[in-house]
Amino acid sequence: SIVVTGATGHLGRHVVRQLLDKVPADQVTAVVRNRDKAADLADLGVRLAVADYNAPETFDSVFAADDRVLLISGNEFDKGRVRQHTVVIEAAKKAGVALLAYTSAPSSLKAALADDHRATEEVLVGSGVPYTLLRNGWYHENYTEQLAPVLEHGAVVQAAGEGRISSASRADYAAAAVAVLTGEGHENTAYELGGDEAWSFAEYAAELSRQTGREITYNPVSVEDYTGILTGAGVPGPLADVFAGVDAAIGKGELVVSTGDLSRLAGRPTTPLAEAVAVALKG
Ligand code: NDP
Repeated sequence: SIVVTGATGHLGRHVVRQLLDKVPADQVTAVVRNRDKAADLADLGVRLAVADYNAPETFDSVFAADDRVLLISGNEFDKGRVRQHTVVIEAAKKAGVALLAYTSAPSSLKAALADDHRATEEVLVGSGVPYTLLRNGWYHENYTEQLAPVLEHGAVVQAAGEGRISSASRADYAAAAVAVLTGEGHENTAYELGGDEAWSFAEYAAELSRQTGREITYNPVSVEDYTGILTGAGVPGPLADVFAGVDAAIGKGELVVSTGDLSRLAGRPTTPLAEAVAVALKG
């Protein structure tokens, strides 16, 4: 069957729903750590497996020989994500899965955030399990789901200078994952995934102005000031450093991906940023 971890997350839910357009529900297993959060997935008819990246024994019977697996990277930055991901990779290896696809980060991204992904890639490639590296670029939603302070202050405050980002919607990255999980010939391949159009925060602010009819400007700040703004808003120090590090990377162009891999795998153009803005403003 096709097994998706992190299935109750934002990306995981998109993947499960899109899989059901291609395969019968009884061939899909959603791996979740909280069954209560997965009631809607169970209602879709997919199988549920309950397992936690922090508890290796819970993965003992999740996978079977010839399964095709999507390992969605975790979000517990303080719990050792490489160790967590290794738990899943080792269980998949033991079971003899046919493919393990992993949601990584673009190889161009050098920020600290990418370290766990590079290390996980090494474990996966070294494991001998047939793999696909889905090196996902940025989500539109990282910005469009954080509009409240932007609308309140009439300003997009970031520390990315004039850097550009090729973001795409989570649904786009999910479509690429589904193509790999249901298609052929993706073994031992790395895809660099990003949106068709790169944009700058000045252009983002202009698009927000256009769609709201209000003046919204881009206020570029230094990485140091940005870290202070984030901690001042209650973001824990280590996480503020991660976010600020990402902005610095954007400033250097590290989140521009121009391979076209994403639209090629999805079989259609990626979602324009303007469309994600419109969805977010409709709320
Ligand atoms: P979410 O935070 O919505 O989902 C993360 C998923 O990982 C959740 O389903 C969560 O389970 C699961 N998870 C976390 N820790 C564990 C654990 N210990 N055991 C089992 N499951 C666990 O993120 P998205 O779906 O939006 O994105 C997927 C991943 O992509 C993120 O986890 C992160 O690694 C990365 N990411 C990428 C971004 C990008 O722009 N490309 C931006 C942000 C994150 P539960 O539902 O129970 O919480």
